[in-house]
Amino acid sequence: MEKMFNNISKMKGYALELQKNMTCRPAISPKVGGKGEYQKALYLEGELNKIKFDELFHVDAPDDTAEGNIRPNIIAKYYGQDKSKTLWLMAHMDVVAAGDLSLWKTNPFELTLDKDKDTIYGRGVEDNQQAVVAAILTAKTIAESGKRPPINLGIMLLSDEEEGNEYGLEYLLKERPDIFGKDDLFIIQDCGDPEGREIEIAEKSTLWFKFTVTGKQCHASIPNLGRNAAEAAANLAVRLTEGLRNKFNKQDPLFSPDVSTFELTKKEANVPIVNIIPGTDVFYMDCRIFPCYSKEEVMEEIEKIADTVENDFKVKVTFEKVMNISSKATPQDSPLVKAYAEAVRAVNKVEPKIIGVGGGTFAADIRNLGLPAVVGSKIYSNPHGPNERTRLSFVLDDVKLIVYVLTHLK
Ligand SMILES: [Zn+2]
Repeated sequence: MEKMFNNISKMKGYALELQKNMTCRPAISPKVGGKGEYQKALYLEGELNKIKFDELFHVDAPDDTAEGNIRPNIIAKYYGQDKSKTLWLMAHMDVVAAGDLSLWKTNPFELTLDKDKDTIYGRGVEDNQQAVVAAILTAKTIAESGKRPPINLGIMLLSDEEEGNEYGLEYLLKERPDIFGKDDLFIIQDCGDPEGREIEIAEKSTLWFKFTVTGKQCHASIPNLGRNAAEAAANLAVRLTEGLRNKFNKQDPLFSPDVSTFELTKKEANVPIVNIIPGTDVFYMDCRIFPCYSKEEVMEEIEKIADTVENDFKVKVTFEKVMNISSKATPQDSPLVKAYAEAVRAVNKVEPKIIGVGGGTFAADIRNLGLPAVVGSKIYSNPHGPNERTRLSFVLDDVKLIVYVLTHLK
């Protein structure tokens, strides 16, 4: 172990090289105007080829809108002494867009190394390139150790996580369910804290709604001739946010934040000019609800609130679910959680904290297969924002932690 940990400490330069080469290949979904993961995957496969895996293959999803006409998914395995089960490290290659460029202090798609020689800035360095780096460094460490681990080490580098997994994990589950063995275990480093203390074992259910408010378009100087869909939609958004938060207000300290969340998010453009009263207005809400509430209950409440707006503003309100994921939890006493907690104490030198979160990682799908998954890593937890950053030393600790788990799994 000590020898392996020593080797890991020497990998900072390689971690930086990997991060640099990923950051300049922005893998943004074609759904939001990007080219997809093709270039990034090509680069990563070249790096994976340098490691003596026993299996290395693709399960690419066809997608005409993406560069290369595919959304790549790369799978690699290094066999253990017991080949019947695998500890999988799952990471996603895609990143979200940079957002408002004026808020960035550096070019988001050109990695910047801080003068402390440890902090790095760039879109994706935390979400989820750190996990990609951790997976590659772990495999390199194990393969170069000259010893077979107790069980297989597997790596999945997947596409399309930020936009719903259709071409990534969901495609893999549909096309190659045989990859997921009945005794397999999963570490997903897509959530975490700077001390590496948190072990995420449960996620809230994710519900995304699209609301369409239809009124009547007219000139803004004669509003009496129309029905203002934007005004009705604004009122609907406020009533929904307040109404849902008040109705579904249970607290649970396992989760952070400790309540179900209901957030107004995306808005579609309505009219192109200021002097038109919009006849249609479309907005979205992101809801993360505790497993104790059903989506039917939430939809019933939405229906009631929508009725009040229809009555008050004489408009029509329709809504639909655009995302609906419910998730089981991984039991706290599962061997994976125990080994991970032990690793947190040994490597990060802190007392582990078992938590639930708002959701949105691969873990939901894995847990719904009845397989154990833990989510954790040493990160600042600043995904999707401007000036996304992490530390190279964080990923080295993550690698040590995974190696510890792999060699201590019973
Ligand atoms: Zn992510």
